[in-house]
Amino acid sequence: MKHSTYFNLLEALKEGCPICFLVKKTTHKFMDDFLYESVNDPGVRQEIKASQGFCNRHAWQLQKFGDGFGQAIVYSDLMNAVLKELKEINESISVKELLKRINLGTATRQICIFCKQEKDAEERYISVFWDNFDDPEFSFHYKNSFGLCLPHLALALKKYRNKRLAKELINIETGKISGLIAELKEFMRKHDYRFSKEKFGKEGDSWIRTIEKFIGKEGVYQKGA
Ligand SMILES: [Zn+2]
Ligand SMILES: [Zn+2]
Repeated sequence: MKHSTYFNLLEALKEGCPICFLVKKTTHKFMDDFLYESVNDPGVRQEIKASQGFCNRHAWQLQKFGDGFGQAIVYSDLMNAVLKELKEINESISVKELLKRINLGTATRQICIFCKQEKDAEERYISVFWDNFDDPEFSFHYKNSFGLCLPHLALALKKYRNKRLAKELINIETGKISGLIAELKEFMRKHDYRFSKEKFGKEGDSWIRTIEKFIGKEGVYQKGA
């Protein structure tokens, strides 16, 4: 029997890169649950302390939820911890040592909880993608979709389980990339003044779809970001 993650993935094929779409959706739900249920969870609070808050991208994404109360609780915790450390400065601690202790802006801090959750969701859906790649229903819908963005294509290939399927994935995606290049060519042709009376067809937004294909949806987790 197929799991709900499969149906989520199948449905997401209508939304551009399905992995980007599901990662964004998962983060949105996770942030919502976080603000309304887990802000006071001691385990979660500890995790947030350990990672010294959230990464820049997620801190501002969370801010846009507008729940000031929940975020005030979180940041009171974080700021108090920093204040405590800063107050401990005395002649026996060098500024370098202090910075190490309070961990401000250093690479040693743990991954932000939302980044971790995005990474998990990404891997979970890539795994479901491969589980069903050979399934006739899934394969049909995938072949007729936008396909994967290049960062998620790279991740899928990194996790390949079978050379034949990996080759098939590359074949399908190569076709999709060639299709986009042809659309871009048509888009640019129509921009040319000699054809300026011609209306744009489906290639009108090809440049935007190409950005998504190349780099993924806006604001989605990327390794090293
Ligand atoms: Zn993607
Ligand atoms: Zn993050």
